Formats: sequence, C-alpha cells, structure tokens
Amino acid sequence: KESDESGKKGEPGDGDALKPYAGAKDFAALPLSDRTQRGLKEHKFVHMTAIQRAAIPHALCGHDVLGAAKTGSGKTLAFLLPVVEKLYRLKWGAVDGVGAIIISPTRELAGQIFDELRKVGKHHSISAGLLIGGRKGVDTEKETVMNLNILVCTPGRLLQHMDETPNFDCSQLQVLVLDEADRILDMGFSGTLNAILGQLPKERQTMLFSATQTKSVKDLARLSLRDPEFLAVHAES
Ligand code: ADP
Ligand code: MG
Repeated sequence: KESDESGKKGEPGDGDALKPYAGAKDFAALPLSDRTQRGLKEHKFVHMTAIQRAAIPHALCGHDVLGAAKTGSGKTLAFLLPVVEKLYRLKWGAVDGVGAIIISPTRELAGQIFDELRKVGKHHSISAGLLIGGRKGVDTEKETVMNLNILVCTPGRLLQHMDETPNFDCSQLQVLVLDEADRILDMGFSGTLNAILGQLPKERQTMLFSATQTKSVKDLARLSLRDPEFLAVHAES
C-alpha cells in the first residue's frame, strides 16, 4: 500500500523541486551525493521502503518532517540520509562543530542508529559520536564532544553535556532528529526533551519519527516542528 501524504508547504516552488524525486522507488533515483550512493550500494540498500519514499524527498528539500511508520519499516535511513546530505552540501567540517543531533530513547537503539550511520556515511569525512552514557566515562566525552559533527544520543546524556560540559556548543545546529518519539515520551523524558529544546537554536530543520501517533507525540510535534510535512505509512509495501 502506498503512503498517505497530507500537509502542505505554502512556499511556491517547493512542489516543483520535489517533482523529479517524488515518485522515486530506488535510492539511486534520489539526488544524493556519490559518497552516499556508494555507501548505500556497498551495504545492499537498493529499494526504498514506503516511509523512506515518502519522507526522504521532503527532508532533502529542508522541510520539517513528522513521520509515522511501524517498527522495522526503515525509519532510520529516512532521517540519516537527509542528515548526512545536508551537512555534506554545507561542506560541514571539523571546525564547524555540532551540525546534527539525533535523539533516541535507549542506548541500544542509539547504537543501532550509529551502526547504520557508519554504513551510509562510510565514504564521508563527517565525524559522529555516540553519547549514551554507561561504562565509557562522561569525562572522556567532554573532551571530544565539541569536535563531533553528528551526535547520536540518549536524552539524559545530551542534557548532561549541555549542562556540564564547558565549550559544548549547539548554536550552529542545522538538523535535529527525534527518533522513536513515542518511546522517548513513554519513558518519561518529556521534561528532559523540553530542556534540550530550550537550548537549541530555533532556526533548524527538525524531523520527528514515531511508530505511533499519540496525543503526547502530537504535542511534542507542535512544540518542536515548524510547518511539518506529515507522512504516515499505514502498511509496508
Ligand atoms: P525502524 O526504525 O522503522 O524500526 P530500521 O530503520 O531500524 O526500522 O530498519 C529495520 C531494518 O531494515 C534494519 O536492519 C535496516 O538496515 C533495514 N533496512 C532499512 N531500510 C532498508 C532498505 N531500503 N532496504 C533494505 N533494508 C533496509
Ligand atoms: Mg527506529
């Protein structure tokens, strides 16, 4: 079944920019960098899943995205590819600091996102770090965190760095991803998220992904997204 798309951008020209890619079924048909295309190919990612087909063209245009699709439907690449492409197009480098933050509810899920990022980002020089707490001391992280371009983190650890790490600077942030937003909220991180959002620049692209659409997810979307494309995939094709 195809994805349902609703929600609109009012800006003229957006539709035209999307047109060549709106019907794309394979990653190869998307306007992605050669580096990303190589990473995808080498890891045998060929056909897009429904949520990827629905979300990636909008996200590549810089729109905010609210994506809903069940577990296992490929939401990770739906946000990772736009994140990597955005920083690549901006020629983001070592001196530019934190350009993207991806927030995930658990250490395990954050680790999976990081693994997927290593695959599709294999040929990019963008740096990335996994900030999830646990065994590796937060003090070691404090010395490196400002040199990372993409942070994949759990909410508590990110806020800890915001509060405690000298020189931790998110003022240049380009993209924020809230992954598995329903679980983040179920786990009681709503206050932590609000504190994080309060410290991030308002001028940014935000993508929010969730397996379910609860009232609290919609409230979070209202708080964190600007004029989002709402993309819900009801059944995987
Ligand atoms: P979700 O976040 O929606 O639960 P994931 O992003 O974790 O789903 O993807 C589930 C699995 O499907 C992962 O192992 C991932 O590598 C794989 N996958 C994602 N997109 C594709 C694709 N286009 N083609 C093949 N496998 C894919
Ligand atoms: Mg996921």
